[in-house]
Amino acid sequence: MTFDVITIFPDFFRSVLEYGLLKRALAGGQADIRLHDLRDFTDDRHRTVDDRPFGGGPGMVFKPDPIFKAVAALEAESPGRRFPVILLSPQGRLFTQALAEELMRQDRLVLICGRYEGVDERIAEHVATHEISIGDFVLSGGELPAALIMESVVRLLPGVLGNEESAWQESFAAPEAGPCEFRHGLLDFPHYTRPAEFQGWKVPEVLLSGNHEEIRRWRRRRALEKTWRRRPDLLTGFPLSDEDRRCLSALQRELCESSVPSESSKFPEGGQHQ
Ligand code: SAH
Repeated sequence: MTFDVITIFPDFFRSVLEYGLLKRALAGGQADIRLHDLRDFTDDRHRTVDDRPFGGGPGMVFKPDPIFKAVAALEAESPGRRFPVILLSPQGRLFTQALAEELMRQDRLVLICGRYEGVDERIAEHVATHEISIGDFVLSGGELPAALIMESVVRLLPGVLGNEESAWQESFAAPEAGPCEFRHGLLDFPHYTRPAEFQGWKVPEVLLSGNHEEIRRWRRRRALEKTWRRRPDLLTGFPLSDEDRRCLSALQRELCESSVPSESSKFPEGGQHQ
């Protein structure tokens, strides 16, 4: 899978590409990441990519022309083939695991990183095929969002993760995606490793039992419980099995009896910044 990233800071990606999974996928040939300096698509001596906003106001806006040329140059490399051209923008569709799974089916993606006040709207209207946001917050550039999207898509590509199944048993993995029993679409269950007791904190007994059916049931129950407590929105429309339903009813009863504080009340109040 090829990613073409259009940015004014190609060097920004250096460390991201030199570690861990992305490095491995590049070396293994599962992914190719090409960095394109937006300034290479300017015509003036100063290699200008931005200008003042029409109508006034603070900050600068990316001009449409260099981005248009950069995308046209990429399209010219494979005439007649269409591929998604993604503009990173806080106003875009929210990036989720489901969207990562959708994008992973493409063989090529173009990612346009904005800066300053953003990008001339005509790029969103006429050049980009998609606008994607990585969350309801504003960053100062599209580079971190582009790196984040590449990482989450690349780790789904066959052969990138050591254990083929591990990507499908993680939080959010869509119930209909991935092989066999690892499909779920819930938050992940808790993981533990050695030592079995640390600072007096014990690993749940069942995990040491060697009873695979018990362990499977415990994991399912804990994944359901975490999801239900922290992200009940994920359970809407979720295909619950009879076992899941029994488990959730039991949790509801326990909660009524013990009135456990909700997860969201865990942060201390904290003082106001002056
Ligand atoms: N004025 C814009 C924000 C511009 S931020 C607005 O209020 O909507 C500058 C650039 O950072 C954007 O063009 C985009 O490429 C990137 N960016 C910032 N926050 C982002 C987010 N949450 N998701 C994706 N890209 C983001």
